[in-house]
Amino acid sequence: MKYGFIIDNRKCIGCHACTTACKSEHDVAVGVNRTYVKQVEKGEFPNTRRIFSVMRCNHCTDAPCVEICPVEALYTREDGIVDFDNNRCIGCKSCMQACPYDALYIDPDNKTAAKCNYCAHRIEVGREPACVSVCPEHAIIAGDMENPNTEISQLLARQITTVRKPEKGTNPNLFYINGDTASLNPEATDKSGPGLWNSQSRGVGHFAKAAEKMMNSNDDVNLLQISIDNDIQAAYQRKDNENPNYIDVLNGKARRVYDTPDKGILWGWEVSAYVMTKAISAGAFLIPFLAMLLGYEVSESTKITSAIISLVFLGLTGLFLVMDLDRPDRFLNVLLRPQWKSWLVRGGYIITIFGGLISLWLAYHLGIFPKNSIQNYGSTDTIKAVTNPLLSGGKIFLWITAFFGVMLAIYTAFLFAQAKGRDFWQSPSLALHMLVHSVMAGAAIFILSSLFIDLSWISLLKTTLVISLVVNLFTMITELTMTHPSNSAHTVVQMITKGMYKNLFWMVVVLLGNVLPLILLLVTPSTIVLLVSAVLVLIGIYATEKIWIEAPQRIPLA
Ligand code: SF4
Repeated sequence: MKYGFIIDNRKCIGCHACTTACKSEHDVAVGVNRTYVKQVEKGEFPNTRRIFSVMRCNHCTDAPCVEICPVEALYTREDGIVDFDNNRCIGCKSCMQACPYDALYIDPDNKTAAKCNYCAHRIEVGREPACVSVCPEHAIIAGDMENPNTEISQLLARQITTVRKPEKGTNPNLFYINGDTASLNPEATDKSGPGLWNSQSRGVGHFAKAAEKMMNSNDDVNLLQISIDNDIQAAYQRKDNENPNYIDVLNGKARRVYDTPDKGILWGWEVSAYVMTKAISAGAFLIPFLAMLLGYEVSESTKITSAIISLVFLGLTGLFLVMDLDRPDRFLNVLLRPQWKSWLVRGGYIITIFGGLISLWLAYHLGIFPKNSIQNYGSTDTIKAVTNPLLSGGKIFLWITAFFGVMLAIYTAFLFAQAKGRDFWQSPSLALHMLVHSVMAGAAIFILSSLFIDLSWISLLKTTLVISLVVNLFTMITELTMTHPSNSAHTVVQMITKGMYKNLFWMVVVLLGNVLPLILLLVTPSTIVLLVSAVLVLIGIYATEKIWIEAPQRIPLA
């Protein structure tokens, strides 16, 4: 048994009855939708036409939302329905990044993810989904696609159908008859501006609560609404001057006339900050480890400093991670109810293990292990062996910690790769990008700590910073110039190099964060220059992470 949907665009009249029935059936909050009817106008004046496309979860056979969900809040039932359990959801929003179809939203009431669940409760008692029952045109057909006697399987056998973004490999189980590319492909049309049918420009996801307040509101809130509307109108006006909207229609260019609002930036500054603190935490261990490997004498106080810096920034990493959750009260679910395919879970365990190893290392160098009592267990050498780099067992400990340090630095690249909705994050060089950032951050933080501790291997820090800056520039050039597999990844590159991020990218990331410190380090290697370069490098890393995380989220998925 495998349930699916057909949307028959020959019949849909764009009445929104399905949207309304779904809202009523599931008590969906104001400002968010489980299903809606996107409307696109196309054609040349006077021969224009409006195309309706019902949008919702595709109940994918290979659902990326299920794979990335860290707590099995999203799961595929035996009948093929992709359902969710909001009692498990932690509000991490990774499913929203993974779904290439923008099918999920955060419920503003309980702050957990939600979407179309095929009205599973109705299916179980032999009824059809609410949208199917209400549709006056029988434009939505639901049923078991594996049963040859159902209408859906017969239509699938007879009609030519299309799915959204087949290249994503998700095997959607929602098929369109007469599906129109201009409507199904989000890149074919610009995002909506205000207009008679599409004036709702705010009010989804994180903005939904604000939207509700505005609706039931006092004068102050209405003033806020007016000011937002004015901003939107002004922005749209500016755009109109460049490229008049009505000209789009006259020229036959397709444009959206009804749509749901943009969900905004789902992973904001907390995620950029967490990637940065994670890089510092890993680098704070990896850099002295490198020094030891190369035969430099690393003092006890340096090892203690390394462990303390690493633990402090690891703590901040955890803090930012929890802060980003819409249900921070459930953060332990990541460790206690793990879904092992998710890199959020694997990352959670990497953070925990790395933190444990560094704590052990710190404890050893602080002399916390009482040697006599250890001797009673006959394990002095064991503890020494696992923590002292001069002993062979200690080397094993350090190598294990270094392995987890590297994993800590790069695991987010694998998490981002699971976010299939964001093409720019599918870059094969993202892991290298994160490892290099970790090395840069580690070197920079040790240069700054040389203000407080005596470092005999400062020259190594300078060399490491110079080499990592060169590799970082090379990695960035590769990421931005390689042939991108999709238009949306290419659009992100344009946004970074020529669009809204161009000043931050060229001035802060490239010039201040990379080129200037590189020149300073090569030309005048004085202490003050080292310190200034270290600060610039840290600023550059944060700015890079901000751009790399934010920009891809500005591409509409539906
Ligand atoms: Fe639905 Fe999106 Fe998950 Fe596919 S990836 S099953 S469309 S929520």
